[in-house]
Amino acid sequence: MTTSQWWREAVFYQVYPRSFADSDGDGEGDLAGIASRMDYLAALGVDALWLCPFYPSPMVDGGYDVADYTGVDPRYGSLSEFDELVAAAHQAQIRVTIDLVPNHCSSEHPWFTQAVAAGRGSAERERFLFREGRGDAGELPPTNWASVFGGPSWTRVTEPDGSPGQWYYHLFAAEQPDFNWHNPEVLAEFNRIVRFWLERGVDGFRIDVSDALIKDFEAGDTPDATPVIPKGEGSAVHPIYRELRATMDAVNPEAMAVIETGTTPEIVALFLRPDEMHLAFNFAFASAAWQASSLRGAIDSAIATTRVVGAPATWVTDNHDTTRSVTRYGRDERLEGAYVPVARGGGAADDTHAVIERGLRRARAAAALLLTLPGAAYIYQGQELGLPEVEDLPDEAIQDPSFARTGGAVRGRDGCRVPLAWEGNEPSYGFSPDGSAPPWLPQPTTWAPFSVAAQEQDPDSMLALYRALLDLRRCHPALRAGEVTWLDAEPGVLRLRRSAGVGTEFVVVATAGADRAHLPAGTVLLTTAPLTPDGLLPADAAAIVELAGP
Ligand code: BGC
Repeated sequence: MTTSQWWREAVFYQVYPRSFADSDGDGEGDLAGIASRMDYLAALGVDALWLCPFYPSPMVDGGYDVADYTGVDPRYGSLSEFDELVAAAHQAQIRVTIDLVPNHCSSEHPWFTQAVAAGRGSAERERFLFREGRGDAGELPPTNWASVFGGPSWTRVTEPDGSPGQWYYHLFAAEQPDFNWHNPEVLAEFNRIVRFWLERGVDGFRIDVSDALIKDFEAGDTPDATPVIPKGEGSAVHPIYRELRATMDAVNPEAMAVIETGTTPEIVALFLRPDEMHLAFNFAFASAAWQASSLRGAIDSAIATTRVVGAPATWVTDNHDTTRSVTRYGRDERLEGAYVPVARGGGAADDTHAVIERGLRRARAAAALLLTLPGAAYIYQGQELGLPEVEDLPDEAIQDPSFARTGGAVRGRDGCRVPLAWEGNEPSYGFSPDGSAPPWLPQPTTWAPFSVAAQEQDPDSMLALYRALLDLRRCHPALRAGEVTWLDAEPGVLRLRRSAGVGTEFVVVATAGADRAHLPAGTVLLTTAPLTPDGLLPADAAAIVELAGP
């Protein structure tokens, strides 16, 4: 059967539901809010949504602590509102993908509360990673491994008889117990969950922490307290994805999954074999410094490694786990490896205005690369508005678990999760209806220029740029598929020829380190900054040039 592989060149828009649009006035976004903004998403021109978790959750980790995998948290609405959202998206020709969180659930998930209550040796405990402690009375954790959010990755439970008991493993917060993926019941449950959502009409999944499902506790303590997660061909994680893929194909062969993995390109490629998952985020591109050599290296490695298994590359600069790229690119001294998801330090004392100006210029140029490279691209809500990171959230507003777990040393990821500005001159900028509760994270008082309404009026806005780029991409196969050929370029310049075997060819030029760059002969379709009076591309900019036909 031939199926459409729509995801190979799709542009996905990541929605963080709590911060997108609030329809009911509680200061938190919701599913009806997303549905109400479908015209905006259609006008932007994206092909699909990725919805971050909206499942019932105590919200210890922004919903990545799932208490019920087939429900909707009342703060976000109901299953019927989910159905309405999917219908509205499909009506607008936009597909819907959702987050699947298989590594861990919430400590309030019934399976976990049953496991604690059932005691040692029970079938219920076998669904999680319970172990006896070390030390004379089992008072020491089974390994010295640290949690990604800081602190230990083992927590001790009290047994049903009131005695201090076993320990359970959690890669993240204590409220996020890891599943035991060696237990076939877990796989059966996730097959059920995948089927449930596909039958409800979703078009795919983003798979959270996808490469970490299997741990090797036998490895014991490690020098730097990092967990031991077997990787590579022989890892027991691959049969899991093969089975989930078979389930997906059986329900909807056009459905797709993108994996979140922070490992090397060679290992990522294993997950992308034809019988495993479809796409993988390319975090090398997101981590690349705003320097031509660094960007080129990241582009080459993504294309080379995915090509081996016949998968497309995937391009991303921003998501809900990292400092927004405007701020990252704007801050020279933090360029290398600046994309550090999950555990990262707080804001810097620097000239915020200068950082944002420079960051915006570079983010515009980065957008031109992101949306003209071959493969799928991801845009994180607010990226198309050029939102900077909010680095001065008051301590009492911070919700990221890493803040408390590190005693405030890591401020966490709330700064990229501040609710969007839609219109008007002051908070909540149309995020909530008039007279609502304040937004769950405070919005800066300087965000009027970042609102959708303001940017719709401004032909030079970031939003106008994204719309133009998405338009060009839609019209020209060579700007979304095909080959990248590097042309000669002086240091600090990227010059990529883009061709797809059919249709027009283009050259994309970007300055990332150089003050100026020449453009090739042809029609300049788009520049992210005005050309100099002598027709050169200035620093921190990009241009798309259509080459004359043969
Ligand atoms: C998600 C984070 C989350 C973590 C634990 C990550 O991959 O993107 O937001 O905190 O997984 O679920």
